[in-house]
Amino acid sequence: MTATPRPGLRDVSPYVSPQLTVTARLNTNECPLPLPQGFADELADEIASLPLNRYPDAQMTRLREELATSVGHPFDGTWAANGSNEILTQLLQAYGGAGRLAAVFEPTYLLHSRIAWLTQTGVVSLSLDDGFTLSREAIATAIGANPDVVFVCSPNNPTGNAQTPDAVASLAGRTHALVIVDEAYIEFGGATCLPLVGEHPNVVITRTMSKAFALAGARIGYALGAPDVIDDMQRVRLPYHLSAITQAAGVAAIRHAKEAMAILDAIRDERDRILAALRSLPDVTVYPSDANFVLFVPPKPASEVWQGLVDRGVLIRDLSSVVPNALRVTAGTTHEVDLFLSALEEVLAA
Ligand code: PMP
Repeated sequence: MTATPRPGLRDVSPYVSPQLTVTARLNTNECPLPLPQGFADELADEIASLPLNRYPDAQMTRLREELATSVGHPFDGTWAANGSNEILTQLLQAYGGAGRLAAVFEPTYLLHSRIAWLTQTGVVSLSLDDGFTLSREAIATAIGANPDVVFVCSPNNPTGNAQTPDAVASLAGRTHALVIVDEAYIEFGGATCLPLVGEHPNVVITRTMSKAFALAGARIGYALGAPDVIDDMQRVRLPYHLSAITQAAGVAAIRHAKEAMAILDAIRDERDRILAALRSLPDVTVYPSDANFVLFVPPKPASEVWQGLVDRGVLIRDLSSVVPNALRVTAGTTHEVDLFLSALEEVLAA
């Protein structure tokens, strides 16, 4: 006998970001450098002393305390999970669901609609304006759709630009929806919406240690919101969802925040170098970026440019399904960015 999955499941492809063996991997917006060896040594010691025969601290107390202190937000408004994708899933499990609606402003992070689908939440797709900003019209349309959840991504993936806290406040003040501000890239630029949470308890900020904290492999994301929202997440979380090893990794990484922030400066410089170099190329459209990546539209078919770069050992992301003919490149090390820029010049000249 074969089993039948939920209706429509087999129409959906698994979400994968293609990984190839290349010299410069600039396709998933990771940090190109690991945290220093001191972090790895401390983490190894911590793990060696963990009582792994016991379940982890279900309240993730140390990690939440460290996160709360480091961002200046109350402990009972701070929550952690396996990557911000799991944070988003828990938020949708709590505030979305069958018969409820999530609004997304396109083009944006594909996982927002996908997590809505996962949690049986309907999606209403709205558009950012020409500069990929949240216009008054877009906000009014979102409110008119009467959603239960609204996603705002700032800085936005894949476009790179941040939204203003004023725009988000004007949205949050006029809807009963949970306004999720995905700040996965906030350490790289843009103004945080965290100060809005006090006045607008329907705003929740989601962040990650995968990008600026150089910890994508550890899978740590967190939410900063009103205590009621965090209580609701407690109602849907799986028991002990964050392992003791993951919690220890997060605590150890926060102790090395200064080193992570130094890497960040170097990445911003590389991003700015990519922006300047792409702007100097004829017929390339380049979008401004507050993040650790740059979206651009080449004067040749995106798939051709993408393949030409792969042939030269550089992997970037083809986002032509999201923004017409667009490619996104992550700011890597100086060497990786050099490789990307020289390969791109060759491909465009060919
Ligand atoms: N939000 C945005 C906007 C992202 O780009 C990403 C990663 N690509 C995530 C959330 C998820 O990050 P993680 O699950 O690694 O925390």
